[in-house]
Amino acid sequence: MKQYDNISDADLEQAIAAAHDLYQQWRGEPATTRQATLHKIADLMRTEKTALATVVTHEMGKLISEAEAEVDLCADIADYFADNAPTFLKSTPLTTGIGDAYYQKQALGVLFMVEPWNFPYYQIMRVFAPNFMIGNPMLLKHASNTPSSAETFVDIVRRAGAPAASLTNLFASYGQVSQAIADPRVVGVALTGSERGGASVAKSAGENLKKSTLELGGNDPFIILEDADMAKVKAVAPSARLSNAGQICAASKRFIVMADKYDEFLAMLKEAFAAVKPGDPMDRATTLAPLSSADAKKTLQARVDAAVQAGAKVYYGNEPVELPGQFFQPTILTDISRDNPAYNQELFGPVASVYKVNSVAEAIALANDSSYGLGSVIFSEDREQADAVAQQLETGMTFINRAWATLPELPFGGVKNSGYGRELYELGFNAFVNEHLVVSA
Ligand code: NAP
Repeated sequence: MKQYDNISDADLEQAIAAAHDLYQQWRGEPATTRQATLHKIADLMRTEKTALATVVTHEMGKLISEAEAEVDLCADIADYFADNAPTFLKSTPLTTGIGDAYYQKQALGVLFMVEPWNFPYYQIMRVFAPNFMIGNPMLLKHASNTPSSAETFVDIVRRAGAPAASLTNLFASYGQVSQAIADPRVVGVALTGSERGGASVAKSAGENLKKSTLELGGNDPFIILEDADMAKVKAVAPSARLSNAGQICAASKRFIVMADKYDEFLAMLKEAFAAVKPGDPMDRATTLAPLSSADAKKTLQARVDAAVQAGAKVYYGNEPVELPGQFFQPTILTDISRDNPAYNQELFGPVASVYKVNSVAEAIALANDSSYGLGSVIFSEDREQADAVAQQLETGMTFINRAWATLPELPFGGVKNSGYGRELYELGFNAFVNEHLVVSA
């Protein structure tokens, strides 16, 4: 893997100064002047899809087809915000007895984003596209194991004709991230990552009275009620857990199954997990990629071992995969008691936890008995019941009779330790704007 040196403090200062200058310049220009550039970024991504995807696959190991889908999604996000920003930015009239009033969304200033390796382009695009249109220049600290993906993204932005300071990739230390957040020219920070990283960055933001959004981990429930259509469940449950080798915050991780469907579900999941084909992620016949790093595998194995030590049963998997690379066999755990460490832990890899419940109320209580609250899935042929259950789940997103999904037009984010704020859709657009009120008598 290519190595990059960390930046100096002088580099950081220069990047902040250039971004701040650009913010001042953009304040005098309407957002529509940036529309064509954002569409051009989308076009370049589509044209160069396989080359861009290859960078990601080489760097963090996901399947080439998954990396290509990520590039397509990024292009869709860019087009969505280029098309919709003018509407999102329209001033909103307000009714008041003291005169004519409206508010107008304006740029806030320079933003800092801290992003993880699991979707190296998508994570950047979720913040970049709306804020580029708003006029907030951005500084990026990407994960240490995806530096080339970060450089490649920035290169596309430049080649599309965006000003250099609109997105600056910085190989910054944690200390330099704090330094940047403390700088008066930096007005906010968006982080996607772990609770530990999120808490640390949010602390710096809080101490400096800066706005922040946090997209953190998840332990998402996938609830199968007694009237679920098991053919539909079969079509989506395995990939809801195994996509991206299971390394997705919003992947379904806890399968909560009504007793009369429990055995059938376990057998079905085992059959699907046993059918995956681990191998070279560049080979299109491979269906299970390796984990992103030796450390990621070590952490997952330690968590599975601890779960088993505490009484969980391995229904399937947890055997070594005899291939070079950080492969982890798809694994199904059952009998996880409330005092088992795995009960409230994110297993970031191809490991499904399956729970048996005897009532809808028990399913809801178990789903909510988590420090996380990102997404959830419900399978039930009774639409009214499914909606009623959805309303009782403490998660930011619920999908009924389909797998979880992320699209530009749907807000993404969670509650509890899964973070705060939303990305994508108009809610994501609004994360870093000044809703400027103007009243004239
Ligand atoms: P992580 O360790 O928190 O790393 C994420 C990013 O934060 C990296 O760029 C990392 O830099 C940086 N970072 C960590 N601690 C920091 C600190 N104290 N100061 C400044 N930067 C810091 O997360 P991870 O474990 O690699 O990523 C996986 C996690 O992300 C999972 O929990 C997953 O669920 C979550 N995630 C959430 C979402 C969502 O939208 N909710 C999406 C994807 C992933 P280094 O690489 O240099 O350490």
